[in-house]
Amino acid sequence: MSSAPTYTPRLLPLRMPRVCVAVTGADASEMMEKAEALVRDNPFLEFRLDYLAKPGLAIPKIKAFMESHPDTVVIATCRRTVAGGRFRGSMASELDILAKASGAGCQLLDVALQTAIKSKPAQVQKLRTRSALILSFHDFRGTKKLDEKLQKMLAVQADFHKIVSTATTLSDNVTMIRFLAKESDKHSLIGICMGEQGIISRVLGVRAGSVFTFAALSPDEKTAPGQVTAQELRNLYRIEQVDAATRVYGVAGDPVVHSLSPAIMNAAFRRENVNAVYLTLHAKTLKDLLTCIRGIPLHGISVTMPYKEAILKHLDNTDSHTTKIGACNTVVRAQDGKLYGFNTDAAGVVRPLERRLPTLEGAKILVLGAGGAARAAVFGLKERGCEVYILNRTTGPAKKLARQARARTVKRADLKKLSFDVIVNATPVGMGNTRETPLQEHEINARYVFDMIYDPAETRLLKLARERGAQVIPGIEMFVQQAARQFEIWTGKPAPGDEMLRTVLLALQERAAKSAPVKK
Ligand code: NAP
Repeated sequence: MSSAPTYTPRLLPLRMPRVCVAVTGADASEMMEKAEALVRDNPFLEFRLDYLAKPGLAIPKIKAFMESHPDTVVIATCRRTVAGGRFRGSMASELDILAKASGAGCQLLDVALQTAIKSKPAQVQKLRTRSALILSFHDFRGTKKLDEKLQKMLAVQADFHKIVSTATTLSDNVTMIRFLAKESDKHSLIGICMGEQGIISRVLGVRAGSVFTFAALSPDEKTAPGQVTAQELRNLYRIEQVDAATRVYGVAGDPVVHSLSPAIMNAAFRRENVNAVYLTLHAKTLKDLLTCIRGIPLHGISVTMPYKEAILKHLDNTDSHTTKIGACNTVVRAQDGKLYGFNTDAAGVVRPLERRLPTLEGAKILVLGAGGAARAAVFGLKERGCEVYILNRTTGPAKKLARQARARTVKRADLKKLSFDVIVNATPVGMGNTRETPLQEHEINARYVFDMIYDPAETRLLKLARERGAQVIPGIEMFVQQAARQFEIWTGKPAPGDEMLRTVLLALQERAAKSAPVKK
């Protein structure tokens, strides 16, 4: 007889951790090996039996697993293709496999609404003799009519109702979170938005009332689009600590998936014990972002391309510095709901130089470029009393910026005759490759060369500068310092700069290791 304990469904929510890790496998043995490796750190697992060619073969192994891990909570799922799963068998086979999984000790069984409404009610209810029933519905197209779906689902008696929709906008998360907040007092709900834009619901759904959320075992083993790994949910987003008082921040742009900001900001919040979480917000329109800022609500935003300029007219106020630059990379949402804009890119340029030069007053600085980052550098350096020169590929923007900031322009042909204390590269030339450089070696006449580009860490420009005997400042310092200033604006605390630098260097190393070709 099985020694695995049975649980009354009523008590299950008390025992359930916030994160359930979905386990798949090429066959039953592989799935169970993964479960064994996972179970120490993850006491809540979902066995995706529908991923197996022969799910029935897994049952004896599940029984043995449940007997040796009686404190683990397990969901058995064998979802048919019609409901978005991979099981190609009949409805009767799905229910039969779930009944066997229940007999093997799985405390929760996931039955899709499509199966439940077409089966005899007694057949479905029989599954609840030993296990709790999760009635699930997946919408792979959007996040619509959640109330209507729930009403339809309530016709089937179940212990949990799980609604998984797809976020095609950030605002879809607002819809899901409002739905959970409204209904979770009355029903035991699990609510998540799939898709890259659904990250807000995956992290904040639990505080809005979702009993738990799902995570992937690893980035390669996602069972739903946009699923995050359990490690990310716990370590990066600290999901176990997210509560009603947690402040929510994020980096908003399009694209934004490769941003290092979540790594650096969440590390800073953790180090300084700030109850806050920082998310990646893929906003395809500014309107969507603004709806999300108010609807979630978000407490602050790092704004990146392409919204740094366009967001200005939606803000209630900006400091004079940001107005002059004409671009905002930091938004604060005040308690009264008003939005204030700042630009911390200037601090990102000025701070690394202040650490190296005895004074910036009178320092002769050449800025390459006349775009958003160059504008922040030029105004920031002028405010510190520097003598600023601008060189840009097209002369119009350089002249305009020079006029506005009371700086000067230079011609490229004159560079070999000129020398500077610092040259700052604010163009994207050299980004993502080690061959391109905005200046040739003979044009680099400076004590310091500061490249805003941080990927690669050592650009061609920095390499040439070293060879010319100049000291170099890598773009990562700007990235860390502009983020540090954001942290200070949002929290009023000094930023843990060393921790932020360490985190971002580690993230870059991991990224480089992943993209390096595998040697055989
Ligand atoms: P942006 O507004 O698009 O401006 C780009 C500037 O570079 C323009 O002046 C443009 O000149 C010039 N440029 C573009 N392609 C060029 C080429 N092939 N040859 C010569 N000049 C070229 O971009 P941004 O926001 O200022 O960003 C500039 C760089 O700074 C990017 O690489 C960005 O990643 C980096 N950045 C780094 C940080 C950090 O934290 N480290 C922060 C912000 C920005 P035209 O006027 O002739 O088009």
